[in-house]
Amino acid sequence: MADVYLGLGSNLGNRPAQLAGARDAIASSTGKIQAASSIYDTAPWGPIPQDNYLNQVIRITTALPPRDLLKALHEIERAAGRNRANEVRYGPRTLDLDILIYGDKAVREDGLTIPHPRIAERAFVLVPLAEIAPGLVLDGTPVRELLGRIDSRSVARYDPS
Ligand code: ADP
Ligand code: MG
Repeated sequence: MADVYLGLGSNLGNRPAQLAGARDAIASSTGKIQAASSIYDTAPWGPIPQDNYLNQVIRITTALPPRDLLKALHEIERAAGRNRANEVRYGPRTLDLDILIYGDKAVREDGLTIPHPRIAERAFVLVPLAEIAPGLVLDGTPVRELLGRIDSRSVARYDPS
């Protein structure tokens, strides 16, 4: 069994419902959810103008090896209506599921890099990750310290009302 941190994101359709559906699907097809951050409303990252995302980070325990886990997550994205063949890189998506950290494993393969290579530059990942795992060390630096190095003003706790 491995402890795995996953990043969840949605900026199309009913965003909180997509995240809730993703958590259910993750729990039933990959492994039990052990911790979940709050949900955050975040400014889009990258070159494409698009609506804000909702983002969340969860910790699961899973028996699936990294590749099989990625395959299961892509399956859940597909079930949420995401069609990678029709989308722009870094553009809007109903659901984005990323493997952030997989135990203490490092993976560098075609189409799969773990830890996720852009954690340290993304406030929408670091804010929720620091909420549930502030002392987790990534490349020698605790998450709370990585968060202190970036501008996280574009990330606000989501208020559904
Ligand atoms: P991003 O999540 O960086 O915004 P995408 O969701 O479009 O980008 O994913 C692009 C590709 O990243 C996917 O096809 C997937 O194979 C690859 N990838 C590499 N490492 C990971 C990882 N750790 N978790 C999820 N996807 C990954
Ligand atoms: Mg992704």
